Amino acid sequence: MNIKYLGTAAAEGWPGIFCHCEACEKARKLGGKNIRSRSQSLVDDCLLIDYPPDGYWHMIRNNLSFGKIATLLVTHSHQDHFYPLDLILRAEPYCYKLPTPLLTIYGNRHVEEEYHHALKEVDCNGIAQSLHFQRIEPFKSFTISEGYTITPLLANHGSAEEDCLIYLIEKDGKTLFYANDSGLYPEATWEYLRGRHLDLISFDCTGVIASAGSTHMNLETNRVAKKRLIELGCADEHTTFVINHFSHNGILMHDEILDATKEDAFLVSYDGFSVDF
Ligand SMILES: [Zn+2]
Ligand SMILES: [Zn+2]
Ligand SMILES: [Zn+2]
Repeated sequence: MNIKYLGTAAAEGWPGIFCHCEACEKARKLGGKNIRSRSQSLVDDCLLIDYPPDGYWHMIRNNLSFGKIATLLVTHSHQDHFYPLDLILRAEPYCYKLPTPLLTIYGNRHVEEEYHHALKEVDCNGIAQSLHFQRIEPFKSFTISEGYTITPLLANHGSAEEDCLIYLIEKDGKTLFYANDSGLYPEATWEYLRGRHLDLISFDCTGVIASAGSTHMNLETNRVAKKRLIELGCADEHTTFVINHFSHNGILMHDEILDATKEDAFLVSYDGFSVDF
């Protein structure tokens, strides 16, 4: 399996859209891996996770054809993970000759509400044939046409009303655990994971060395989560750990995060980072 990180920042991007803090100014000056757009990932070039406002830039920068994608998994309704106003451009007169005529979006009730809200903004007949929304529930697995089994798990994130999701993605004996905007997981999620071997674990590292509150993680909680996953039999020396979803409040530049995690065997994501596992 392969995962490509198209965007690796928290909600404001890094540099933040309007921000002139020291960490953002430094990122502007250094450029390269320090420039982070809003979070989105692509599995095996066919399974898209989240659709942020930077989706268009990701398509251009990585020479992708989003018109060929049939499946979009959405973690939650926050704007940096779901920006449906771009998805309604999949019909005439905004779009012709779609290679893959139907895109199925999987998400929770809040994502579904945002989706329907966006649909009201568009006045083109074809859109209903071009998009399909599928509501999903935590801990209820489903399979998709590309041959993956997907299990949404509960994150510890967002408002109390929203079941923010993280995902187990399985195919051909490999399992990806994709978890950003998570906080330390609710007990039901730890219990679900117990004894299941994970090949790649993608952590929320929003706070880096700063506090991330209880609904995000930082390096400290990434270490706690790694330890518990090893204790639960989910991870061993064959498991790849990636840290992702960085906020400017976390202060450290990409190379400094590498230095800070030398002992941890964490891979540090950046926009365009691709890993096979
Ligand atoms: Zn986020
Ligand atoms: Zn800033
Ligand atoms: Zn969020």
